[in-house]
Amino acid sequence: MNPQRILRQKLEDLQRAGVTHDSSEWTTFLDEISGVITSAQSATPMKDPRPAAPSHVAVTQHPKATSTATASLDGAATPTADLPSEKPRPAAIDSTVPVARQFLPSSSDSLPREFSADTARPCSSLSRDERVAGLAKAAEQVAACVRCQELAEIRTQTVFGVGNPEADIMYIGEAPGADEDRLGEPFVGRAGQKLDDIIKACKLTREEIYICNILRCRPPGNRNPTPDEAANCREYLDAQIEAVDPKYIVCWGSVAAHSLLGTKVAIGKMRGRFFDYKGIKVLCTYHPSYLLRSPGVRKDVWADMKMFRADMGVLLG
Ligand code: URA
Repeated sequence: MNPQRILRQKLEDLQRAGVTHDSSEWTTFLDEISGVITSAQSATPMKDPRPAAPSHVAVTQHPKATSTATASLDGAATPTADLPSEKPRPAAIDSTVPVARQFLPSSSDSLPREFSADTARPCSSLSRDERVAGLAKAAEQVAACVRCQELAEIRTQTVFGVGNPEADIMYIGEAPGADEDRLGEPFVGRAGQKLDDIIKACKLTREEIYICNILRCRPPGNRNPTPDEAANCREYLDAQIEAVDPKYIVCWGSVAAHSLLGTKVAIGKMRGRFFDYKGIKVLCTYHPSYLLRSPGVRKDVWADMKMFRADMGVLLG
């Protein structure tokens, strides 16, 4: 069996067993990763070092274990982050791609899996305190994060996320802009005002939603996040999803949609239906900034909102 398959199988075994990253089984797994990588380095070079299957998208039976394991793999296997220095550098799998990204789904040309009754996750059993604690732990890690050197150097502060830890709805945007970087909260600038209008029109309040981004640091000049930056930040996003455990995720814009679901399909083709992410219903629609620039897509966003709220039992005019 090839090394990637061995790693993937072991990861899936751990996920199924619900093993968390602070357990001894996890440490053993990391040691095994190092061993597999070492043998892979001395064997024939691999053609495509990335796992064929998007492990964190495909496994839905045990959502908690799935996201914890994926997140931990990222964090623990990041070369400079947590591995003791005597271990082989995991980046040797492909030194041009962060290890975190090698365990994310490679971007596909096809639509992600749609949500169905079969993919629905069971009701969450997390208490409010557990959710708050999960978010607080991730927020602390984010505040100290320097995985993306360029972003860490220029940020005023990290922008973790805000809202109700028990929200049924999570909104995911792209990355903080200048206003968010200054104030430390997502969606507080012009796009945020537009989002507020949409929230109100949907008969919702910000207090009912949890809002975060693909990135927790502002990219210079508000450029799009790079795939490596998104991969570096994925552990935190997954921790937030795991803690809040929403029933619905709305991805605002193609960066959020593509990054969360591992696809390159145009946002215009993704909107209007629910995809599955670990048993959560995911709606993808245009970004509020795009709405500001292209009012013509307002009717599409409104149709998406109507569909989304109707699914929650709320009919909009
Ligand atoms: N502000 C955010 O927090 N996210 C975006 O995607 C845009 C603006």
